[in-house]
Amino acid sequence: MKLNKVTVDDLNVKGKKVLVRCDFNVPLKDGVITNDNRITAALPTIKKLIDDGGKVILCSHLGKPKNGPEDKFSLAPVAVRLSELLGKEVVFANDDEVVGENAKKAVAQMNDGDVVLLQNTRFRKEETKNLEPFSSELASLAEVFVMDAFGSAHRAHCSTAGVTDHIKETAVGYLMQKEINYLGNAVETPVRPFVAILGGAKVADKLNVISNLLEKCDTLIIGGGMAYTFLKAQGKEVGLSLVDDSKIDYCKEMMDKAEKLGKKLLLPVDTTIAAGFPDPIDAPIDVKVVDTDKIPADMEGLDIGTKTQELFADAVKSAKTVVWNGPMGVFENPILAKGTISVAQALAETDATTIIGGGDSAAAVIQLGFADKMSHISTGGGASLEYLEGKTLPGIAVIADK
Ligand code: ATP
Repeated sequence: MKLNKVTVDDLNVKGKKVLVRCDFNVPLKDGVITNDNRITAALPTIKKLIDDGGKVILCSHLGKPKNGPEDKFSLAPVAVRLSELLGKEVVFANDDEVVGENAKKAVAQMNDGDVVLLQNTRFRKEETKNLEPFSSELASLAEVFVMDAFGSAHRAHCSTAGVTDHIKETAVGYLMQKEINYLGNAVETPVRPFVAILGGAKVADKLNVISNLLEKCDTLIIGGGMAYTFLKAQGKEVGLSLVDDSKIDYCKEMMDKAEKLGKKLLLPVDTTIAAGFPDPIDAPIDVKVVDTDKIPADMEGLDIGTKTQELFADAVKSAKTVVWNGPMGVFENPILAKGTISVAQALAETDATTIIGGGDSAAAVIQLGFADKMSHISTGGGASLEYLEGKTLPGIAVIADK
């Protein structure tokens, strides 16, 4: 699939003010960035615009401030880290109203190739509602808008969509291009066999992903908490395992759909069980592995079992394209992380194109040290899921077509 959008390569930004929506929504602990992947991922576009002599004005949200400005959601630490990574000054325009006196002054003083970072866009209550006047205020700073925040592209907010009501010259950045190319090719024109692996907590979160991927893939693997609703739909006892009774019919429908389409739907054949959910989540826990038709009524399934690890790894071995979203068990606990690790390992060992759809599975792959063995790790959890559902993301739709 070819992305038919104007890209930064099509722009001539020399001397122009360019507003770039990045995804700098990084994890922070006591004001320290604990993972700067999203900042690193934004560098190619920023460097390109600097090299082309643009005046680069960056904006992003960070976290979920509820009632306007809050120090702990300030983008100040991002400005420092970004400046280190770029090896040049990044002026942080610290305005509670985002586009305030500091921002206007900083922008007015820019030379070609300079970089300014605005304060957290969610300090403005209009942002998540895509309301004026914030969209026009943001737009008033620049002549060109570049969308490079894939992780926020599934939201129509002022800084991802509304701003394009006022800036007509628009483009996508390199990160957006890369994300869309990988995810788009995997889903629309995969090299087959195409194996999709879904895990995570709830079936309800991934209804449309399951349905869409069933149509596109050759084999759909389901693990994690969501597998137990499927097992229950097969008439199995699942004990205290996570189940969504309202989705049992849906799971039956999906199993029928797989059969009709001639697709393989793989579910766990054994599972790691314990007397209950670990508390705290990483506490030591007594576990054993049983077949999925032998789960005692007073036990809870918390990870896939050893036979399932092999079954899933075998399916991955024969694949040419693999897309994975969601952990296979309660991977936050080392005793219950084995299933997730085994899937990560299987993906690391194959020559297939391997795509990790963000969120917990991306975190797990990075944490386990397999990151450089994957073809692509998406920076967007929710956004990549919506993409895999086949939805049009608003942050992509608003950008000019080529
Ligand atoms: P994100 O939404 O951040 O992209 P994700 O899609 O990768 O994440 P989620 O649906 O959020 O995954 O689910 C991840 C959570 O599911 C983890 O916290 C994990 O502990 C939990 N989980 C996985 N397997 C089980 C299980 N068998 N029982 C209960 N919880 C589980």
